[in-house]
Parts: sequence; structure tokens; C-alpha cells
Amino acid sequence: MPHHTNWARNVEYSAARFHRPTSLDEVKEIVAKAKAVSALGSGHSFNTLADTPGDLISLEAFNPEAVLDREARTVTASGGIRYGELGARLQAEGFALANLASLPHISVAGAIATATHGSGCANRSLASAVAGLTLVTASGETLALTRTSPDFAGAVVGLGALGIVTSVTLDIEPTFTVAVSVYEELAWDTLLNHFDAITGAAYSVSLFTNWARDTIDQVWLKQRSSGALPVAGQRFHGAVPARVQRHPVRGVSPEACTGQLGIAGHWIDRLSHFRLDFTPSQGDELQSEYILPRAHAAEAIQALRALAGRIAPLLHIAEIRTIAADGLWLSMAYREASVGFHFTWKRLQPEVEALLPILEEALAPFRARPHWGKLFHAQAGHIATLYEKLPAFVSLAERLDPGHKFRNDFLTRHVFGG
Ligand SMILES: Cc1cc2nc3c(=O)[nH]c(=O)nc-3n(C[C@H](O)[C@H](O)[C@H](O)COP(=O)(O)OP(=O)(O)OC[C@H]3O[C@@H](n4cnc5c(N)ncnc54)[C@H](O)[C@@H]3O)c2cc1C
Repeated sequence: MPHHTNWARNVEYSAARFHRPTSLDEVKEIVAKAKAVSALGSGHSFNTLADTPGDLISLEAFNPEAVLDREARTVTASGGIRYGELGARLQAEGFALANLASLPHISVAGAIATATHGSGCANRSLASAVAGLTLVTASGETLALTRTSPDFAGAVVGLGALGIVTSVTLDIEPTFTVAVSVYEELAWDTLLNHFDAITGAAYSVSLFTNWARDTIDQVWLKQRSSGALPVAGQRFHGAVPARVQRHPVRGVSPEACTGQLGIAGHWIDRLSHFRLDFTPSQGDELQSEYILPRAHAAEAIQALRALAGRIAPLLHIAEIRTIAADGLWLSMAYREASVGFHFTWKRLQPEVEALLPILEEALAPFRARPHWGKLFHAQAGHIATLYEKLPAFVSLAERLDPGHKFRNDFLTRHVFGG
């Protein structure tokens, strides 16, 4: 079999067989026969969460149709569809998703499995848009769940541990436009004193920093047409409006970024930082992210600034975002209005992995939950202290996958223990 690596090329999947089924029956047959099996989305995770020694199933060739229900305001599509493709179809029909991650390249099932999120004090994780999903479970049977099903809140952020999500139904809304304005050199003290006002100043707000400089490099305000933006050309909390398009990483060409300079565009062309037809982010990188209750934002910022001397040399850029609380058991924002501290690292994995326990210790007092799809150190024993619903999730996994065919080394080490 050809080698399959993740997007970042720091993981080579160890699967004995790689499948691209085109029908539900094919998925059911592969899963029923497999001893060890996993789903691979678009491979944008930075760890071995998606790996298996057995059969790795990609849904990239699987039923790309998206079915719109205008009355129910939902769309149903294959779990393998990417947000970029789904978004273009929705936009053509006059509809939108409430939010996107920083890139539209990722698959819907892969994103919801890890509670991937964008930014915005009132915006929940992308998984919160899920109104229903169909899984092929270990026996090869299908299981359809909707918001009224008792297992639903446990199954959406499923970490790939419960089955292959072949179909997802997402909430949609009428299309809307967004204008993005970038401001530079926001003082740290201003952020600390006005954290809620700054992060709540637009529909979606992102702050970019390398932690070591005297100011926050960039503030990205993404405002819907219905909301008010600061007056063009005026400062934002003392930060200066950028007069040209910016990339979050200093010195990198901004051509991969979606439109800025306050020029409104469709949601699909603005909510992600990066354009579908370009390599997102820095491209040659690793990532980690820690999500913690927003009430601790200022203290967590102080703790990270104290480590700036160790963080900055390994960093391309870091991003601070807010995420609204949801009720999905393994969501990093489960029942907590949250703030996420994201790190885009240089490809220096041993050095990054040596720093992660130090970062995690500094953020431990704030109950920081690591992003499931990125690099982190925390082991199952510590993870168990962060998720009150973990025992219920373990029971659900035992019920749907009693032979543990969806379990891999990563899940054992970081989630199930043992
Ligand atoms: C450049 C870049 C930018 C990013 N930006 C953000 C961001 O803004 N916000 C954020 O939160 N994260 C971000 N991420 C992380 C990314 O969103 C997550 O890692 C996400 O899980 C990737 O989706 P994927 O389709 O590539 O999933 P994969 O990495 O392929 O898989 C992730 C998990 O999903 C499971 N899975 C995939 N498909 C299925 C399926 N059909 N059924 C069941 N389980 C399935 C896998 O088994 C695995 O457990 C970024 C990553 C990159 C590379």
C-alpha cells in the first residue's frame, strides 16, 4: 500500500489497508470484517488519533451529494465532505453555516469528531451545528442519531472511537456577509483590562501573537453585515488599522488569506482565515491548542507570557480565540464559555514535545483541555479530571464497540487508559 501521511507530514499512518469506499454497503462490509478499523478525514490532525493498524477508511469518494431541507433549515451530506465544498453548495442555494474553522479544507466528520472550532464569544464549536448523524458501528450496522437521542451528546464529538460517520445533518441559516478588519499592535495591558470587550467586539475575533513582543501583533475583527464595526481608519482600543492585507505570520505573503480591509464578502469567503485553493496557515508546521474557561483568560495570558522566552523560539505564531459553551460531552468547550490558546509551531517536534508538559503545567490551574486533533502531552488519567462525562463516553464506546476495533494506541493512552 502507498504511504499515507497526515497534512503536516509528521504522522505516517500505520494501517495495513487503505480503503476509499463509494457506497454505504461497502463501508458496512469493511467494518464488519475488520479487526481494527478507523476513519480518516482530510488528515489535518497533528497526532495519531485517526490511525489504526488495520483498515483505514476514507470517505473522500463517498456520495458527495448534499441534500438541503429548506423548511427544517438543515443540510445532510457525507461525513467526508469538506467545508469548502459544502459551503460553496450552500452559498449557491442562499444558505450558510454559522461558523467555520480557520481553514475550509477539513472534512466535516473529522472536524466534528475533534470539536474543531472557529472564534466568537457567541459561536459554539462546529460540532454544535450537528442536528443528526449516521454511524456504521463495529458490527457493521448503521445507527442514526438526532438531538433527541439519548446517545447524541456523547456521539457527536466521538474522536473516531464509536464508528464511521457516513452522514451528517447540519443546521444552516440564510446566507450572510462578513467584513474583516485587521488592527495591529494592541497593548497587552489593554487586552487584559478589556478582554471581554475586545473579544466581543465582532462576530468572530482572533488575536495573533508570538507571546514575546511588547504588543499583540494583530487583531482580526470579523463582523456580520448586521453588526457595527469600528469606523474605517480609526484605531481599535489603540491598535492601528492595517492598510494592506495581512497574513497572521509576519513576513508571509497574504495571498492565501481571505479578503480583509473591511470589504464585505460571502460568509464562505471570510469566516475562514485561509482560502480553499491555497495552502492554509504557514504550511510547514505543527499545532497545539488549549481551551479553558474564559473567566481565567487574563490569568492564563499572564502564565503564558511568563513562558514567552521558551515559547517564542519554537513558534510561527499563536492565536487567541473565544468559543461559546456547548453540551457535547467531549467538546473542549463543554459547559464552559471558553478561550482557546492556539500555537502554530515550527516543525521541531522533539523540542515542541519537550515544551508541552511545561505549558500544560502552567495552564493546569485553569483546567485547560487540549485540542483533540493537535499535539498534546496529557495522559488519560489527567484527561479524566477534565471531562465529567468521560465515564459515560467510555460506556457508550463499550456498548457500540465491545471488541475495541475502533480503539488505537492514541485513544488508549490519552482517553480510555489501561
Ligand atoms: C492548517 C490547520 C488549521 C487548523 N485550524 C483549526 C481551527 O481553526 N480550529 C480548530 O479547532 N482546529 C483546527 N485545526 C485542526 C483540525 O480542525 C482538526 O484536526 C480536525 O479534526 C481535522 O479534520 P480532518 O477531516 O482532517 O480529520 P482527521 O485528522 O482526518 O481525523 C480526525 C479525527 O476524526 C475522525 N474522523 C474523521 N472522519 C471520520 C468519520 N467519517 N467518521 C468518524 N470519525 C472520523 C478520525 O478517526 C480522527 O479521530 C487545524 C488544522 C490544520 C492543519
